Amino acid sequence: MNSENIEKTESEKKAAVEVATSEENALNANDVTSAKETEPGKKEVSEKRKKPKRKKKLWLQMCNITLVPIFLMGILFVCIGLYALRLSSVEETLSSLRGVAVLTAEHFSSFNGIYHMNSGELYCGDIKMQDEMPFMENEKRAFGVELSLFYGNNRVMTTMIDENGKRRLGTVLADNRIVTEVFRGNIVSTEKNIIGNERYLCVYVPIYNKEQVVGMVGSAISLKNFYRMNRIFYIEIALLTLITALITFLLITVFSKKIVKRLIVIREYMEELVKKQTADQEMNPLAFSGNDEIADLATHAVSAGNSIKNLMGTDPLTGLYNRRAGRQRLIKLWEDAHDNYGVFTIVIGDLDLFKNVNDKYGHDMGDTVLIKISEILKRNCKGEDFAVRWGGEEFLMGFCMAREDTYEVVKNISKEIKREAFFADKGVIFHMSMTFGMATFAGQEKIDDLITIADRNLYKGKNQGRDCIIS
Ligand code: GH3
Ligand code: MG
Ligand code: MG
Repeated sequence: MNSENIEKTESEKKAAVEVATSEENALNANDVTSAKETEPGKKEVSEKRKKPKRKKKLWLQMCNITLVPIFLMGILFVCIGLYALRLSSVEETLSSLRGVAVLTAEHFSSFNGIYHMNSGELYCGDIKMQDEMPFMENEKRAFGVELSLFYGNNRVMTTMIDENGKRRLGTVLADNRIVTEVFRGNIVSTEKNIIGNERYLCVYVPIYNKEQVVGMVGSAISLKNFYRMNRIFYIEIALLTLITALITFLLITVFSKKIVKRLIVIREYMEELVKKQTADQEMNPLAFSGNDEIADLATHAVSAGNSIKNLMGTDPLTGLYNRRAGRQRLIKLWEDAHDNYGVFTIVIGDLDLFKNVNDKYGHDMGDTVLIKISEILKRNCKGEDFAVRWGGEEFLMGFCMAREDTYEVVKNISKEIKREAFFADKGVIFHMSMTFGMATFAGQEKIDDLITIADRNLYKGKNQGRDCIIS
């Protein structure tokens, strides 16, 4: 087959299907209009739906549910962790300060002679304490702490330098509570001491002279330096928390997206179901991946879908395909035959003088006849063959066979119908017959052409006196 031919066949195929589908859409459109007209409540709802509403992403909501508490808990843990870390490092620093201060105090307590002031300088006997400054400076270098020597509560020697570059001499330790405690012979630690404009962690140790407390050694480290020394731990904690938060976020995102994807698959199935109203769509297997509630939901959605599909495509009285589903079966039959160079035959059958049944024996009897006839038609459909309630007492059948084979099946149907006995009131028994019109697809005809031919043949049969098959 050359390319021209292929194009022609494809366009024909499109045209044939379009005609059938447009009628189908018209049917659907009519349904929608009538639904709107008859149910004003629904109309309101559909109008409301038109308003674009920003949808909340489900995976984001799931992240919110999990991440917000985790985030708050994380903050709480970090705060507690940092507080505990600060406590322990303050304790550790104070203990180091205490060690240096005790060492220095022992040094100054070891001098013989009496401590006294002379011209503003501190002496122990003849020894000028100022000469001990190198000792204090060495300790400052070795331990990284400031040291001060107090005579009474006056700072008479110190390694501390003020903002003008001068030693902080002559200041007084104003906290009487500390001074009293030290002069009772106790070591006092504090983290709230302000020297100059800065806060310091300090330890004060008494200096003894002739077994009397005469002064004290204060060791100190500024809070600024303390935090600088411990900065690395805080950075580590912050980084660890950040990394943990990131990993948690990623894990939750991955898991929630997986769950949401499965829900979306179910939603898409339902949307397709509502849109197409056919049995074509399949549930994506992803929805069942996991023995959980979502898989249950998918199973129920499929069952509900099947029920809806059956209800929508089935004639309630006879259980045959209704006209809408019948058309879709026809389209499929046509497409299969067209794509595979196959043949098929459609048959339209109309009960003869059926109106008389209703008139003589009542509408219920008429319904019984329709049900029985439908059973016969259904029984004679094999494989992909199908029967449709095309109108009131008019049926359409599709047979995947050529004209001759179909003719034989229809002959058999006709016989079975005539053989069927119907029992009316007062012991009346009656029989029915049907007239058939056939049309066979030979590779070119469109669906509506075939329906027209079959209809025309049926009309011919009726004119020829009914109870016959015109092919
Ligand atoms: P013909 O041989 O020319 O087809 O005659 P007919 O009486 O079968 O045809 P006609 O079109 O005059 O009557 C068809 C009747 O079928 C009219 C209608 O009331 C009846 N009918 C249609 N649907 C139903 C149904 O669901 N139940 C019953 N009981 N009757 C139905
Ligand atoms: Mg009839
Ligand atoms: Mg009729």
